[in-house]
Amino acid sequence: MLPQIHAQSPAQLTGLTLADPKESAAGLTAVLSTAKHILEEMNLLKGFGLLSKLNQKGGIDCMSCAFPDPKERASLAEYCENGAKAIAEEATDKRINADFFANYTISQLSEQSDYWLGKQGRLTQPMLLQEGKNHYEPITWENAFERIAKELNALDSPDEAIFYTSGRTSNEAAFLYQLFVRQFGTNNLPDCSNMCHESSGVALTETLGIGKGSVTLDDFYKAEVIIIIGQNPGTNHPRMLSALQKAKQNGCKIISINPLRETGLLNFKHPQKPTDWVGKGTALTDLYLQVKINADVALLKALIICLLEIQQANESVGANAVIDFSFIQTQTTGYEEFIKELKKYKLEDLAQASGISLAEIRATADLLAKHNKIIACWAMGLTQHKNAVGNIQEMVNLLLLKGSIGKEGAGTCPVRGHSNVQGDRTMGIIEKPKPQFLDKLKENFGFEPPRKDGYDTVAAIKAMYEGKAHLFLAMGGNFLSATPDTEFTAKALQNCSLTVHISTKLNRSHLIHGKTALILPCLGRTEKDIQNGVAQFVSIENSMGVVHSSKGILPPASEFLLSEVAIVANLAQAVFKEKSTIDWQKMNENYDNIRNMIEKTIKGFENYNQKVRLEDGFYLPNGAREGKFDTWDKKAHFTINEVPRHELAEDEFLMMTIRSHDQFNTTIYGLNDRYRGIYNERRIVMMNPEDLNKLGLEALQIVDLYSNYGGEERIAKTFRIVPYNIPAQCIATYFPEANVLIPIDLKADKSHTPVSKSVVVKVRT
Ligand code: SF4
Repeated sequence: MLPQIHAQSPAQLTGLTLADPKESAAGLTAVLSTAKHILEEMNLLKGFGLLSKLNQKGGIDCMSCAFPDPKERASLAEYCENGAKAIAEEATDKRINADFFANYTISQLSEQSDYWLGKQGRLTQPMLLQEGKNHYEPITWENAFERIAKELNALDSPDEAIFYTSGRTSNEAAFLYQLFVRQFGTNNLPDCSNMCHESSGVALTETLGIGKGSVTLDDFYKAEVIIIIGQNPGTNHPRMLSALQKAKQNGCKIISINPLRETGLLNFKHPQKPTDWVGKGTALTDLYLQVKINADVALLKALIICLLEIQQANESVGANAVIDFSFIQTQTTGYEEFIKELKKYKLEDLAQASGISLAEIRATADLLAKHNKIIACWAMGLTQHKNAVGNIQEMVNLLLLKGSIGKEGAGTCPVRGHSNVQGDRTMGIIEKPKPQFLDKLKENFGFEPPRKDGYDTVAAIKAMYEGKAHLFLAMGGNFLSATPDTEFTAKALQNCSLTVHISTKLNRSHLIHGKTALILPCLGRTEKDIQNGVAQFVSIENSMGVVHSSKGILPPASEFLLSEVAIVANLAQAVFKEKSTIDWQKMNENYDNIRNMIEKTIKGFENYNQKVRLEDGFYLPNGAREGKFDTWDKKAHFTINEVPRHELAEDEFLMMTIRSHDQFNTTIYGLNDRYRGIYNERRIVMMNPEDLNKLGLEALQIVDLYSNYGGEERIAKTFRIVPYNIPAQCIATYFPEANVLIPIDLKADKSHTPVSKSVVVKVRT
């Protein structure tokens, strides 16, 4: 009988200390934190050598978030503290070899925290976990590929296999991966976008005809107003603060809408300007609306009603128009229905529901009324709710009213949290591909691609749980910890006959495995990728649709590593042998060959190999950026979105899971969350002090959290209460620790994004 394996990081406390939240982001502290994280993983010389190439032209693209690089790169440092942490994690000198796995059983490893697992170093050779065994053992690449090929070809249907992608995967690897999977015969291509900006893709495609943001970085510098809603750039897209500082210097006003007063939205001290270190920094937000969790639609409707009132008042005195009626009449559809539906709402009720005072709402509307170069930026705070698509579309309604789309200094800006998550989608990593894309694959590669939609992430988990899918292969990521309903997802993965992870570092998904499991260690973005004796480069698409190159400089962490492209090419060779119409080795020998195929298959990549070698890369086409809407009627669409209602009992809370400042997705860099004044602890729950009094709870008290959906109770044990400035009956916890509370079926309408930002939970002492 194999010992128990923990699907969750152990519920052990690490010694919380609290301090006041920081009043300013970055500054000298960010510089010191950068040096600290680098020195924990390598020597300063290696560290600075790497950092000097990070985000520089022709250098290494940061593998963390997808915030774009400015045209004029800072010569000293074109990266943020969290970019440096990501580099330190990947380029660490620490190594995990066969001895490590000989010394630790799977169950012993599972008793370690996620932080500990990630700090053990780079994986160095392919490892196999045989059925019934409790230790990973070395395996050759050839045997590993043969083993996977045998299992895949033994499946009754290609749809019994699932091929997951994390957003770090390069364009070249992603395109080859989807080609392999579709030639194998399935569209089961779930990816991390399913859990983050899927809702943005759905909402924007329906309303503006493209699932990507419309603004460029230059638009930030020309904007009159920037709305930042449901996003914490200070931690998740830190270089955005430099862009906001520049926008402020150009006279822009910033409106922040967030249940938490995030330091990165309040004040910024540029880490490269010592004058900023000692100075008072740049105040960022002009109007901070600390909205209740999931009350964004109520607030946006209230702002829109006020704008319409101001319009009426202005009309009566012949003052300037506030609403851009010429844009509405010529470029949009659905305005009349939208206005008619709005009439059923009372301003006072919307204000009440949002938790924002009428005075604050009117002040915000007054600001918006004066300007039409308005950019709306958002992230998970809008996308991870049941009504996520409605949240985003209500934001689009406001922009359309103002004509703030398709012109300079205005538009939509869903800020992607993973470096190439947008690029992977563009490359065809999607479970529901467009017929035109499949037709192109047939035309270019001579095989009939599968036409039936595949599983997205939630559906993939359920398919494995129900025994409909038996083989799980992940290109990067930490599937178990990134997904909801941790214990359910664990059973799903353990149901598989084979689980395979292509990874750089050890994580919990390696420990929650199928009957047999493989870990295939790949090159990181900092490392040289030599194919056929020639150093290759890969390409990435950032949040604003700029495709650019990335080239590693370090020797590989081990002689046994293969690139993501090489792994896919060899695996495809092993699966298809002589049956394939594609010369996989030719693709692997020179990535220009892959880019030539991408050019033939995907719009916007004409002359790909020339354009990607330009020092600034190139922009992909974006109709909404030019005011051309690729919708059924070529118009931008107003939509009608319900105000979500959460009838909470006295002792119930709406929980949102968030990242700490020492975290990138499920990678834990450290145990501190310095901007929020929380140190050395991840098992915390931020609660409103009045709620503590109401329920007789105390600061620092240890509690369990539990949710109950459909009569099924889920428990997350051992959290310390942190009294925090958060709206009443709203609480915040970190993921992945709280993901166990999110039921698999609690997902957003249309986009199926797991609802990680508005989960009803209770506290148990
Ligand atoms: S802002 Fe994002 S992409 Fe840029 S360095 Fe920081 S983490 Fe990396």
